This record gives sequence, structure tokens and C-alpha cells, in this order.
Amino acid sequence: MLQFDTTYLNRTANQTPRAAVPGTRPLFVVWHETASPRPTNPYGTLEYNLSPRARSSYHYLVARDGTIFHYLDPRIAIAWHAGVHDQDGSPTQVDIAGTHYRGFAVNAWSIGVELDGACDGTPISSAQRDGANTLLHYLHDTFAIPLERSHHLMHREITAPSYRHDPRGYDIGALLAEMPAMHHPRPDIGLYSVDVALANVREGPSTIYPVALHGAARFGHGAWLQVDGILNGEAIEGNPWWGHLVSAIGFIWMGLVVRVR
Ligand SMILES: [Zn+2]
Repeated sequence: MLQFDTTYLNRTANQTPRAAVPGTRPLFVVWHETASPRPTNPYGTLEYNLSPRARSSYHYLVARDGTIFHYLDPRIAIAWHAGVHDQDGSPTQVDIAGTHYRGFAVNAWSIGVELDGACDGTPISSAQRDGANTLLHYLHDTFAIPLERSHHLMHREITAPSYRHDPRGYDIGALLAEMPAMHHPRPDIGLYSVDVALANVREGPSTIYPVALHGAARFGHGAWLQVDGILNGEAIEGNPWWGHLVSAIGFIWMGLVVRVR
């Protein structure tokens, strides 16, 4: 169960009320590292970003001990974390799912997460790794942000390297790659029921395989399926497990079914 430290929640003046920019919502995440001179003590950056002089903020901070501070609520506040311009005056910009965001729009459509660290290449702690994983799942569950690299950017990827080079203590792609095993334990073989309107059976454990030609290829909601084998295949929404079906001679992504017995 995710427990936030809310000591600093919604206290900073460095924010734009979401209501002031109607129609925006959190769509992707920008990951940072604080570059704190004393990363073992997160209170420095938490206090610093209360000051209007800082002109910066974020939504969440994961401390070295794994504590997750909720700093601004993404539902009601746009944080100032990804910058509007770099030093040359060129705007921060990013493409997400075919849409281009630049300048303030990057902040308006994103969630800012800081991992406390010196930003000198020292790896994040294992407690921070666990905290970041927990947060990834929370953001997926709460804001429907896909657990895919396309929706998780590192600050240094969207701004001039001369301006911001964080994070350096972790790679968000590596954290995402660790997730399937952590959050989707290998399911058991047995009897399952289709939990979507229509589920395809494929010739292999990935959507690159065609829908199975042998036997029944599609099953409607509520259909019972006997799964006699589990394979590690294409990870969809972080879930890599595919079940082999005796009846249809093919494979079904286990995210489409629920256990009957
Ligand atoms: Zn940053």
C-alpha cells in the first residue's frame, strides 16, 4: 500500500493552478534528479522549492530512504519542473503519441518526479528503486499513464544537454524493464474466463503473431478457457505473460482473462 509523506503537500507557491489552463491533464511523466549537495537529507530541496525565488517545483520526490513525498497534487496543480526555455531561449519540447508539446505545455501535460541524488552518476539506492517502481504503478493506476517508455521521459532528453543533464543516477527505461517481474507474478495454469468483449488467440506469445487460424480464434466475454502452459512473451502494459490454450491451439495475453479455478 502506497503511503505518501504529505508534510509538504500543496504548500509551494511555485505552481500554476490546473483550473487556469482548462483541458490539461497529466499525460506523461518527466523524471529528474535533484542534484542536491546533501541527497541523504531530502528536506533541503523540499524546503528550497517552497521559496518563490526558486521558481521550481515537482509533484513527487523519492528520498534516498525510499520515502515518497507528495509535493503537489497533479489533479489541481501544474508543477514547474521541465522548464519553459533552456539557456538559449529555445523551448523545452517533446513528442508524446504523435502530439508535440513545447514550452509551458510540457509542464501542463506532465507529472514531475524527482529522485533525490547528487546527479554525479552515483546510482539511486535500492529503496529509491522500490519507491520509483511503486510510484510508476500508482501513476498508472491513478492517471492511466502507460507503463511504456514513450510516456516516461528523462529531463535531459527534452532539454539542451548544456542546460539540464539530470537524471544521472538511474535510467527510467531500465526501471520500466524491471517492472513486469515485480508486479505481474507468473500466473498458474488452470481455468480462466475472458474479461474483455472479444479476445484474440494468436499463433505465438506476441501481437506480432497473426490471430490463430486453427480452431476458435476469438472468444467473447465470459468464455471459459483452459490454460495449460504459461510463456514469457510480449509485455503489454508491463504484463509479459501469455497462456497456451489447449482448445484453440494458440496463445492469449493473460491481461485479457481472469482466473476461474
Ligand atoms: Zn530536472
